Amino acid sequence: MSRNDISQLAEMSTGILRKAVEEHGASVIFLTSFGAEDMVITHLAHSAGLNIRHVSIDTGRLPEETYNLMERTTRKYGVMPEVLFPERKSVEEMVAAKGMNHFYESRANREECCHVRKVEPLQRALSGVSAWISGIRRDQTSVREKASSEEVDSAHGGITKYNPLIDWTSADIWEFISENSVPYNSLFDRGYRSIGCAPCTRAVRPWEEERSGRWWWETGAKECGLHTVGSNPFIFQRSE
Ligand code: SF4
Repeated sequence: MSRNDISQLAEMSTGILRKAVEEHGASVIFLTSFGAEDMVITHLAHSAGLNIRHVSIDTGRLPEETYNLMERTTRKYGVMPEVLFPERKSVEEMVAAKGMNHFYESRANREECCHVRKVEPLQRALSGVSAWISGIRRDQTSVREKASSEEVDSAHGGITKYNPLIDWTSADIWEFISENSVPYNSLFDRGYRSIGCAPCTRAVRPWEEERSGRWWWETGAKECGLHTVGSNPFIFQRSE
């Protein structure tokens, strides 16, 4: 894409962020996992002078590199994310019953872990707000291609969900990061293309799909339950 095209995309995305703040004020949160897309959103919000609450979920299994990026983000943008943790009792019971790495044993176990460590904290975060912002892109998965830049999140009480980067490609993201010196997770320099929890993420080869390094031992949708698609409550798709 040309520099002008990227600028236009950035302008459109900033417009969506501005609308979210104008319509929801402190009642809109940005859920960031400090992925490449999330860092673009943080940069856009900071550049536009938009004060948006950053909320992040610490599953307890994140890579050290992600914590390092959190620190760098605070230093560069002055953003102090509100970090949510899973319910201690739920984690303790799950680990006591099934062990630390039970998620490798079955899809059901993996989904239980994602629910305890990610989905429940997200539900808690969204229970007190009227809108949220995410960094998903349409071309990431077949699930996400149905998403739009603004939608009703039926799975979370009908609040508004903004996806300001929905029309960006991976190439657009990395071009923007490079041109604007946006900080990013150092794992991307080691072959990772999508980063989640340490035990469930690995590097991929250049020709493999972007999310193939997530839960690589599973087949089917590479999703974990943070996102729903569109306003249809019956299309509840697992995602991150
Ligand atoms: S990505 Fe892995 S470790 Fe993280 S919550 Fe899901 S199953 Fe658990």
